[in-house]
Amino acid sequence: MGGGTAIKTGTRGPMSPPRRSPRGMFCGLWAATGIIAAVAGPAPVLAGSTLSAWRVSPDRGIELRTAPGTPVRAYYEEGRQGAGPRIWFDLPGAPLRRRSLTGAGLLQEVRVGKPDEGTTRLVLEFQAGFQLDPRQLRLVGTSRDHWRMDLRQFPPRSLPILGEGDMDSPAWAWPAQAAGNSRPPRPNPVFSRGQGNMAQSPLPRLGRGRYRVVIDPGHGGPDPGAVGIQGLRETDIVLDVALQTARLLQSRGVQVLLTRTSEVDMDLPPRVDLANSSQADLFVSLHANALNMERPDVNGIETFYYEGGLSYGLADALQQRLMAISPGTPDRGARPGRFFVIRRTVMPSVLTEMGFVTGGVDAPRLASRPYRRQLAQALAAGILSFLTQSS
Ligand code: ZN
Repeated sequence: MGGGTAIKTGTRGPMSPPRRSPRGMFCGLWAATGIIAAVAGPAPVLAGSTLSAWRVSPDRGIELRTAPGTPVRAYYEEGRQGAGPRIWFDLPGAPLRRRSLTGAGLLQEVRVGKPDEGTTRLVLEFQAGFQLDPRQLRLVGTSRDHWRMDLRQFPPRSLPILGEGDMDSPAWAWPAQAAGNSRPPRPNPVFSRGQGNMAQSPLPRLGRGRYRVVIDPGHGGPDPGAVGIQGLRETDIVLDVALQTARLLQSRGVQVLLTRTSEVDMDLPPRVDLANSSQADLFVSLHANALNMERPDVNGIETFYYEGGLSYGLADALQQRLMAISPGTPDRGARPGRFFVIRRTVMPSVLTEMGFVTGGVDAPRLASRPYRRQLAQALAAGILSFLTQSS
């Protein structure tokens, strides 16, 4: 269970992480400016690092997931001469490469470095002038592989949502994709009947960084969205599919911004603001439908757009591919809808309902990992074809 680790105060010298490292993109990671900077990229777990994932969460804390039983040391350094205070964590094993992520609000930057060949160092650098009280900083082991440090001394909404890797699962399930391999996943015998090939064909690779896509997993945190058969929750489905879709798109050169990467509460306006301020090329909101438990006969997939034209084209492209991997469920079509997130976004925008969590046909599929992978593959294929055809 770990117990608490008092934070050590660092001094400038060999222990100090480099004050400046090149800012910018890491492998398709794309941190937006503004309150929300949510990213999902390849796992940082590569190479020998024992740091599997980390996350700055909106409830004002930093969480780490490590290899089980890993010792973690936390350090603090006060700000000086125009530089903000810093917190950093040292873990055994070196990361594959150094990288930095641009923060937002009071969090200026996060860096992953290797002070030596045997250490991973995660550095959080805060805004100059912000006074951090180190007596309130305590790193607590919450399980054999999870750590948390409260950052409640920060004002509400002063920290972005930022992170790498998956806080909950032991590993990413996409080694072939992460390595840039274009091999599509093996067709699943249950779900690849009919014209399932559409979403199974290899995805095109686009010019790196040429396109920006916002993916919005609906609901989150205290709002689970629809809850269906055997407790199947919309929020879990859409987050999983969104993360997988993001990874597929990133592996094809598309910059992806997720409105959330974990179970957090997020209102609708910030999702729209994020999309609009990021000048993204398109916006896709992911949802699942529900009726009630007495109506397992109601199933189907539908994709909404607010305005015709490009949004309709995107809706149609996604709807067709989703239907191609979902034989037997009704095609409810690409249709007009007035949802806030598609009405207020300025780029081509759609909201897709990927089936009914209360449906006898849809629910078992939505609960299955292979089908969710196929959903991600279908969405990525539809988005990529839309991007290549509309430009
Ligand atoms: Zn929903």
